[in-house]
Amino acid sequence: MAVGWHRPTKLVIDTQAITENVCNEVKRMPETTELFAVVKANGYGHGAVQAAKAAKKGGATGFCVAILDEAIELRQAGITDPILILSVVDISYIDLLLEYDLSVTVTTQEWLEQAIKHLTHIETQAPLKIHIKVDTGMGRIGFMNAQTTKQAVELTQSATCLIWEGLFTHFSTADEVDISYFNKQEQRFQDIISELKQLPKYVHVSNSATALWHPDNVGNMIRLGIAMYGLNPSGNLLPEPYPLKPALSLVSTLIQVKKLPKGEGIGYGNTYTTSSDEWIGTVPIGYADGWLRHLQGFSVLVNGIKCEIVGRICMDQCMIRLPEKVAVGTRVTLIGDDNGETITMQMVAEKLDTIHYEVACTFSERMPREYK
Ligand SMILES: *Cc1c(COP(=O)(O)O)cnc(C)c1O
Repeated sequence: MAVGWHRPTKLVIDTQAITENVCNEVKRMPETTELFAVVKANGYGHGAVQAAKAAKKGGATGFCVAILDEAIELRQAGITDPILILSVVDISYIDLLLEYDLSVTVTTQEWLEQAIKHLTHIETQAPLKIHIKVDTGMGRIGFMNAQTTKQAVELTQSATCLIWEGLFTHFSTADEVDISYFNKQEQRFQDIISELKQLPKYVHVSNSATALWHPDNVGNMIRLGIAMYGLNPSGNLLPEPYPLKPALSLVSTLIQVKKLPKGEGIGYGNTYTTSSDEWIGTVPIGYADGWLRHLQGFSVLVNGIKCEIVGRICMDQCMIRLPEKVAVGTRVTLIGDDNGETITMQMVAEKLDTIHYEVACTFSERMPREYK
C-alpha cells in the first residue's frame, strides 16, 4: 500500500515513552525476571522494529511476536536478541525457524513428532528452541493437562534436535476485578509444574495485566505487550500501579474551512444538517486509514477545543464543526494532547464499542508513522 508521506495525517510515536514504560516495569520485577517486549501486529500498530528498539533501551532482553513473518522482520532489521513466536508455525517452515534462530510455541504432540522427523532429516547442527504452551483455561492453544504436558516434555528432552527453552500459559481474566478464574488458571499451572521433574530456562505466565496486577509469582520472564505502549490493559477498570505513558498520537491538519448557512447537508447520505451558520472544516483522514465510520459524532481537538465530527466519515476525509473561523493548515489532534485537552485511545475505543488494542491495530498502513 502507498504510504501517505505527502499528506499531513500521521501517527506520531514517542519512542521515549515506550522506553520509559518498559524501564518502569523492569524496575518492579524481581531481579532474575526478564522482560520480553511483545511487538506482534506491527508493534500494536506503533511499528514493530522501532518499538522493539525502544523496548530494548528500556531493558527488554527479548521479543515476542505472533507469526513467523513478524519474527523475520525483526531479524532482517538486525535484531539479534531472543524472539519467541507465540502461535503455531506450520512444520513446513521449520528450516526458517532455525535459519533465523527463533523460538517457537509447541501445542501438540503431533507437532513435536513431526518436528523431530523433519529435523532428523535436515541434519542440522543447531537444535530448535521450543516453548511448551499449556492451556489452563483460555481455550485457545496448548496442552490441556499434566499428562500430555509431561509427554511433550519427555519427548522434547529425548530429542537432541530440540531444546526445551520455555514453559508457559496465558490468563484470560488478569485485567478483571474478580480474580477467581485467574486463581483457577494459576492453580492448574502450578499443579502441572509440580508434576514435572525439571523446568526449562523460561517459565512465564504474565501478559501486561498479569504483570501489573498479579506481580507475585511472575516466573522468570514476562511478556509485556499493551502496557509498554502506555495503555492500561483493563481500559479504565483497574488503576495503573504506576503511570503508563501513551506512546501514540494521531494528528492531521485542516485542508479546507468554510462557513455554511443554516440547512446545508454534510457528507454521504446527508445525515447532518447545519442548524445555523456553521464553520465546517475538512480533515484528510477516513476509514481507509482506520478512522472508522462509527466515529461519526466523536470529537477531535483544534486549538485545544473539542470539535464534533459531523456527517458520515468518508474513505479519505471527514468533516468537523469548528467553533469559529480557523485557518487552513491548523493542526487537528485526533488522539493525543492539545493545549491541555486530551483524547485517548480508550475514548476512541469506547466510542467504537471495542478495546484500545483493536483501535491501535486498525490504523492502516496508509498512515505514516513518525518517530520522535
Ligand atoms: C498478545 C500476547 C501477550 C501480550 O498481551 P498484552 O495484554 O498486550 O500484554 C502475551 N502473551 C500472549 C500469549 C499473547 O498472545
